[in-house]
Amino acid sequence: MAATTSALPDDLARKFVSGCHILHYHRVLDAYGHLSVRHATQPDLFVMARQVAPALVAAPEDLVQYRVSDASPVDPLMTDGYVERYIHSEIFKKYPEVNAVIHSHAESVIPYGISATIDTYKHKGTSTPVYDISTLYGPEDTKDLLVRNTRLGAALAECFGNSSSESRSAGHAVVMMRGHGMTVVAANIEECVLRSIYTQQNAAIQTTVLTTRAAYSSSKPLPDVRFLNDVEAADAAVMTHWSSSRPWKLWVKEVEEGGFYTNRIPS
Ligand SMILES: [Zn+2]
Repeated sequence: MAATTSALPDDLARKFVSGCHILHYHRVLDAYGHLSVRHATQPDLFVMARQVAPALVAAPEDLVQYRVSDASPVDPLMTDGYVERYIHSEIFKKYPEVNAVIHSHAESVIPYGISATIDTYKHKGTSTPVYDISTLYGPEDTKDLLVRNTRLGAALAECFGNSSSESRSAGHAVVMMRGHGMTVVAANIEECVLRSIYTQQNAAIQTTVLTTRAAYSSSKPLPDVRFLNDVEAADAAVMTHWSSSRPWKLWVKEVEEGGFYTNRIPS
């Protein structure tokens, strides 16, 4: 537990607020869902917005610090944080290299979490794992799909796996949550936002592919869908890593000049 805490540096705080706005602008978040970032100088802490719609986060007082150990607020007077902050605390605890987390109810992704089973996807090749909270509820848990405690959060964090047997970095960037949404991790806010936006767009593209095929398949058999193979997926991940600053600059300009969002953190 940190004895004393300091505010996020302005550059990271401003980036956090921009990230919240961008995720709303691109419909990854609506009134629900949240972004978090690990504290820049105190890695045992992380920051989320106070319980407000992400589009309305604007000022330093909207940012709340929590302990990674148990998601408790550093300020004991802070009582109305997001219920699902355990998603973030348990991921930051398990993966030291993760510095940003997004939890979203993206509507184009949810059908895939409903259609798949854990046996189909979990930790299999480059596929996306599915977290099914219904298999994890204890008798005392409220069964509303929300990740309400450290035990349920730790089980979600486990779904990201490890990139290798020696590594403590996450093996997956995205985990789908049955009937609920997705959680996305990255080493920084820019890449986490990029992964979230394009996961949502790619899910919509895949749905279009599948429905188009369904329309044609009654007249003649079609070959299998040609997804990226493992090598293409790995090389594309490298490409998006080094190019992520380009869309970030565009997205920041969109939300700063759109007139709807306010960012009062000094630049
Ligand atoms: Zn949720």
